[in-house]
Amino acid sequence: MTRRIVLLGPPGAGKGTQAARVSTDFAIPHISTGDLFRVEIAAGSELGMKAKGFMDAGDLVPDEIVLDMLSARISEPDVASGFLLDGFPRTAAQAEALESRFEGGAIDLAVLLEVEEEELVTRLSGRWVCSNPKCSGVFHVVYSPPIVEGICDACGAALVQRNDDKPEAIRRRLEEYASKTSAVIDFYEARGELVRVDSSGSVEDVAGRIESAIDNAIPA
Ligand SMILES: [Zn+2]
Repeated sequence: MTRRIVLLGPPGAGKGTQAARVSTDFAIPHISTGDLFRVEIAAGSELGMKAKGFMDAGDLVPDEIVLDMLSARISEPDVASGFLLDGFPRTAAQAEALESRFEGGAIDLAVLLEVEEEELVTRLSGRWVCSNPKCSGVFHVVYSPPIVEGICDACGAALVQRNDDKPEAIRRRLEEYASKTSAVIDFYEARGELVRVDSSGSVEDVAGRIESAIDNAIPA
């Protein structure tokens, strides 16, 4: 049995944190397309240089290049027993293209992290940063509030909220995610490869739920 898993979920669902946990606990490499780009570009590989050309021009890297990089990575010996993929696929076309590149498919299980929208808005819109350009203070109104509301603990300057962190912007991001990703979710669901995991509560609780879901779907 292989555990070739893709982790899906909205911004704010804790994908990065959970991916690191699951990767360690199941001893399978964590593969993120963002990291792949960085590695290939740093190595100066042909694919890396192609990707860099698009990124430098401010364009999205075409699916073909991402798929070439990813296919090469998931054919390496260290992922023979599985991997945890995060950040890809983002569209149904990408999901389909990835599956079609491997005989018998590329993915065994898609784990979808589910969080109520209101909870996501609270998590994502609570960030306030220090207005002092020399200070890197970052606070969260719920998870790491400053001692005095609106004031940086480190330097005493006023805290400000970036436009991207305002609730309206967060809601737009979540809508955009939902409109793109619903087709990816449908894709894996139709193949009988989707499990949904309640992603509310502590990091520990969520990690426990993800791991039981994986164990149930793909027993060791
Ligand atoms: Zn400060």
